[in-house]
Amino acid sequence: MQKNLTMIRSILFFLFFAFNVQAIEFKGSFSQGGLITGKVDQNLKVTVDGKEIKVNNDGYFIFGISRNRVDPIKINIRGKIYSKDFVKKISKRKFKIQRIDGLPKRKVSPNDEDMKRIRKEGKLISIAKKENSDLSFFFQNFVRPVDGITTGVYGSQRILNGKPRRPHYGIDIAAPKGTKVKNSNSGKVLLSNNDLFFTGGTIIIDHGHGLISIYSHLEDLYVKEGDFVKRGEIIATVGSTGRSTGPHLDFRLYCRNIPVDPDLIIPKN
Ligand SMILES: [Zn+2]
Repeated sequence: MQKNLTMIRSILFFLFFAFNVQAIEFKGSFSQGGLITGKVDQNLKVTVDGKEIKVNNDGYFIFGISRNRVDPIKINIRGKIYSKDFVKKISKRKFKIQRIDGLPKRKVSPNDEDMKRIRKEGKLISIAKKENSDLSFFFQNFVRPVDGITTGVYGSQRILNGKPRRPHYGIDIAAPKGTKVKNSNSGKVLLSNNDLFFTGGTIIIDHGHGLISIYSHLEDLYVKEGDFVKRGEIIATVGSTGRSTGPHLDFRLYCRNIPVDPDLIIPKN
């Protein structure tokens, strides 16, 4: 009897260690605007806020944290006989208020004809934001698309020509017109358009699992939709097209439609 109990105990201990010593790593900032990449052992499923997300063949997955999120984020990792919950607190941030004056009136208060165009273009952009491909570059390091002074940050409340507008979800990097713009990470071009109402010359690149990068106000565009572009490849030049007051690159990252803060992801100057 005693011997049996010892044996059962040993088995239980073995099971405890075998199924708890699963390698789970998180990388990134659990803060508003943060982007988290994680890695689990293969064949485990990952659920974030009750929704299962893609895990690639090597066990990598990704998710974003929205600007206004205050609730902790719930992550579950499970296999056939294994399940583990994580509850991660989100650090709150203080966002700036940014006033920009001197924008052309029509770019702040568009007329009826402009609105038609804006809606049409908005659809193209929202289709790109819903992309959730199997490409697998999302967990690799990003490079800074342009060197220059940051003139606009993520999350700032915008007041344009005195009118409150949506928060700014990009980072603005000022650089002379014609400065080469590098692709921040490998991927496929989802959109390449040289004249959108707000963003002017615009390129959107898919890095997989719903992570996309957006480059705006571009002057010359060197890639077309469907092209595969490598990290660091020159894709365009800096311009001041669309709603802009001077040459700069507006760079954004969205993860399955959640805008995240590029400053937390790309290297500083
Ligand atoms: Zn911007």
